[in-house]
Amino acid sequence: MKNESKTRGIYVTKPYLPEMEEYVSMLSSIWESGVLTNGGAYHQALEQELCAHLGIGNLSLVCNGTLALELAIQALEIKGKIITTPYSFVATAASILQKGLEPVFVDIEDGGFNLDPELIGDALDGRVGAIMPVHVYGIPCRRERIEEIARDRGLKVIYDAAHAFGVELEGKSVLNWGDASTLSFHATKVFHTFEGGAVVCRNPELRRQIELRKNFGYENWEVHCLGSNAKLSEAQAAMGLVMLRHLERIMNLRKKRFELYCARLENVTGIKTLIIPGGVKHNYSYFPILVGAEFPLSRDELFDRFIAQEIYPRKYFHPAITDLSPYREFKIISRHKVPNARRAAEAVICLPLYPDISESDVNRICDVILQARQG
Ligand SMILES: *Cc1c(COP(=O)(O)O)cnc(C)c1O
Repeated sequence: MKNESKTRGIYVTKPYLPEMEEYVSMLSSIWESGVLTNGGAYHQALEQELCAHLGIGNLSLVCNGTLALELAIQALEIKGKIITTPYSFVATAASILQKGLEPVFVDIEDGGFNLDPELIGDALDGRVGAIMPVHVYGIPCRRERIEEIARDRGLKVIYDAAHAFGVELEGKSVLNWGDASTLSFHATKVFHTFEGGAVVCRNPELRRQIELRKNFGYENWEVHCLGSNAKLSEAQAAMGLVMLRHLERIMNLRKKRFELYCARLENVTGIKTLIIPGGVKHNYSYFPILVGAEFPLSRDELFDRFIAQEIYPRKYFHPAITDLSPYREFKIISRHKVPNARRAAEAVICLPLYPDISESDVNRICDVILQARQG
């Protein structure tokens, strides 16, 4: 039966949904006030609660994580080129092109997933205005080296922190790093507002510049600068407020499943799991594995085994951004090759991970790998 088999499938992610009544009960005050958007009561409350929850100071809500990146580039008045990573979701590089700037792709670390700060030097020239690293899978970038280079060269730093909601290093939020950090509140992310996002700014003046630009450049009924429309609505902000009430439970569930994966896959020859460095409070956003040469099946063969069992993981991020057509055709790849990013893209599978995934589903997924190992 078609429907039955469909409900048995395990997908890479499943958006968290609170009880519908809890969300619907939030809507009555929108109907009473008649304020649907433009920084209403829920919008203001969500900004405040997120700042308190995340331990940050200056946050501006926006309509998605991609516009968050674009607004940050615009508000920081970056020109020319931006150094970024080929190993990310395509939106990271797209935001640079959308703003008419040129991405320069620098490879990721050998044995890691984040932009390698040691390679930035080679890619620098007088036209580079900023560095845009990504905390891939919620693992913090090597901040010291990145920001040292930025300081020496007078470059801006925008972290794409779409994977790093709630991530801390030594007890402090990574969202305070750089000139700005951007978040995505897309349905599939750890914390969501259906669609949504935010820019976390180092200082209040930058936040004001984001506020202007997300609302056509308007402040006090006057247009002060070029702007777009990137506002988050009251209905979306209401979802965020409900999600915050559930966040501790969501994180605990994610952590449990993440740890079950680790326990079962840690010592499987040919499979590498994500290593959370010491001092990091993680958010258990993704469970990537790397399928190595010592594993009896190739990455794609293992992937097909999953599909045959109605398990739908993702090759996330495959291919590297530098191998996607818009980025190939425009010949904007730097002189620098990106072997580590390509190797990771060829080896990675992100296994299903979401708050409601059952222990038995995680076990079923691990069994596919262990059975393939045994032949
Ligand atoms: C999800 C994501 C984005 C884009 O966010 P949207 O809210 O979907 O626009 C950007 N960068 C990374 C790394 C992401 O994972």
